[in-house]
Amino acid sequence: MRLVLVGPPGAGKGTQAEFVAAHLQVPKISTGDIFRANVSQGTELGRRAKEYMDRGDLVPDEVTVAMVRDRLAEDDARKGFLLDGFPRNVPQARILEDMLLDMGTGLDVVLELVVDDEEVVRRLSGRRTCRGCSHVWHVDFDPPSVEGICDACGSELFQRDDDREETIRHRLEVYYEQTAPLVEFYAARGILVGIDATGPVDDITDRAMAALRPHSR
Ligand code: ADP
Ligand code: AMP
Repeated sequence: MRLVLVGPPGAGKGTQAEFVAAHLQVPKISTGDIFRANVSQGTELGRRAKEYMDRGDLVPDEVTVAMVRDRLAEDDARKGFLLDGFPRNVPQARILEDMLLDMGTGLDVVLELVVDDEEVVRRLSGRRTCRGCSHVWHVDFDPPSVEGICDACGSELFQRDDDREETIRHRLEVYYEQTAPLVEFYAARGILVGIDATGPVDDITDRAMAALRPHSR
């Protein structure tokens, strides 16, 4: 299955992507994770992306698109993939459409995770991310058993620079301005499904899998 997750920052895309990708047996491709890995490795790509990420702005399309093009050309993405965080605006969505068309394929479904702004702020201000495996935790809603350490891989957890309240508000503005129009874009193509993304993580995964079932092939 070829699938995109959309939703505001903090909607739970990364959290659900891990489970949904495992159920569907496709690789999870998160542009945010790839950018963060490049920033921490000090690569040229990371250097170019960092100033935008720190402000909560989108990294320029030419940088992001080239990175996604390379990733989708890898072997493991040939039979399907779950994109988390891409596309993030209509131009990226059009380029993705062309990229997939060139590969003789297209998206099967776009899953929208629906949550309100106050929940986003609560979730992002307590988010902790693992340096080793990128798993996301929450200090109140999903704490690890030892504070600051990932239960999954034992690495250190960190708070993202862009998870400060001021930057969170700006990222929400960027979302409504640039990313939310994708909902209409994909609805017009008949491949959008939306689910309520509040409540326990497992319930949301069940909702997601039920919503995706009619689109699986
Ligand atoms: P996104 O990838 O959409 O930005 P994340 O998956 O990183 O969002 O989730 C943001 C924060 O919210 C994380 O700290 C995560 O642990 C927490 N979270 C995810 N799903 C839920 C949920 N259903 N209820 C409460 N907190 C959640
Ligand atoms: P995320 O981990 O999805 O919250 O992304 C973190 C940051 O990485 C965003 O605020 C952007 O600065 C950048 N980013 C991730 N994906 C994209 C994208 N598709 N286009 C542009 N910037 C992106």
